[in-house]
Amino acid sequence: MKFVPENIGFGHITRQKLMEDHMRPFYSRVLGLPPTSFVVVLDGTYVYIQVALTFNLLFNILRRHFHDSHFSKKKSSDHEFQRMTFCGYKKRNLLKPMMVVAPDGYLIAAEGLYFTDHGNNDSTILKEMLLKPDNILSILQPGDATLVDRGFQSVQDEVEGYQLRFFMPALLGKKQSQFTTPQANKSRKVTILRYIVEQANARLKNKFRFFDEKVPASYFSILKDLFLLSCSLLNKFTVNFNKDTDFHEKLVDIIDQRIDRQNLLEQRVIEEKWDARRVIWEDADQDCALGFPELSMEDLKELTLGEYQLNMGNNYNLEHLRADSSYSFHLHKEESNILKVQLRSRYSARTRRVVWIQFKDHVNGVAGIEEWYCKCPVGARTVGCCSHIAAVSTVT
Ligand SMILES: [Zn+2]
Repeated sequence: MKFVPENIGFGHITRQKLMEDHMRPFYSRVLGLPPTSFVVVLDGTYVYIQVALTFNLLFNILRRHFHDSHFSKKKSSDHEFQRMTFCGYKKRNLLKPMMVVAPDGYLIAAEGLYFTDHGNNDSTILKEMLLKPDNILSILQPGDATLVDRGFQSVQDEVEGYQLRFFMPALLGKKQSQFTTPQANKSRKVTILRYIVEQANARLKNKFRFFDEKVPASYFSILKDLFLLSCSLLNKFTVNFNKDTDFHEKLVDIIDQRIDRQNLLEQRVIEEKWDARRVIWEDADQDCALGFPELSMEDLKELTLGEYQLNMGNNYNLEHLRADSSYSFHLHKEESNILKVQLRSRYSARTRRVVWIQFKDHVNGVAGIEEWYCKCPVGARTVGCCSHIAAVSTVT
């Protein structure tokens, strides 16, 4: 069957064709790369599997079928299979395809399916992929970039050894509870671009519901073929791959303007000990902050740099947050344009968020929001506010 190898895998397309048909200038501009650079996004996704009915025979089928060097070294037993597919993080049994996606959502390759026990994480999988004969290097050239999440941390040296750029969100240091503003801003540039792989995975599972549910053991021998066939069909027949719009132009400008900006409100919170000094705040109910800017959905996207919300057409995270918490509002006694909001989760008394927002009285839209700071890990960033500040801004 030629259909699959003609529509997915590193051998099915050239770098030139990828540059012509599937690259978006938004990516190179946000990352500060020359327009001639290509960018790939990598992510290990999940296929949940049933493990109750596994037999030695099945193990042998899988050993022949799946590409996994760990497999051949191990003894066959139901217990072993159960262990090798158990993902401690998800607390479920699953197999992991490694998705390699272009900036417009086109699926360049889907490698695996890989096991999920300790030896197999995103870093070791990519290391192994780089040693295969037909690998990701066939569609990349020096100066191109890989965009990954934090699980790829220990493969950075290998990737950079091929003169490829490596972009990953920052990791919190051992004693760090919050990213610094420069760290958080730099990370935001990566997460804005990385969402495309999550969108591509969601599209796949949405079109092929089979992969969104627990796959029965009877399908295991053809699982990899089914997965690749589904990816090929999407590549061949999807008409609405993502394109750059005016909004992306705007995002590039906002990022450029704000990337080196300090978080002035954070400095005041720390220096003036705003968190400890209750006396400087007076209670305000929601209606007291009448001068607070009114924000449209468009404004909110600009505030959060919410490409994800824009493209997925929903506002799930904000809705969820709103449903799950109660808010208490306080205004600074001497500066009535500084609002402090505490968010308490109904489900966990210990979960408490505090955000501060400095606004321009009665100035609606994004221009009315001057400064923000939240105590969550990404709350000090000045490139796009965190979801807590966004949620507070919509209910105020
Ligand atoms: Zn936050």
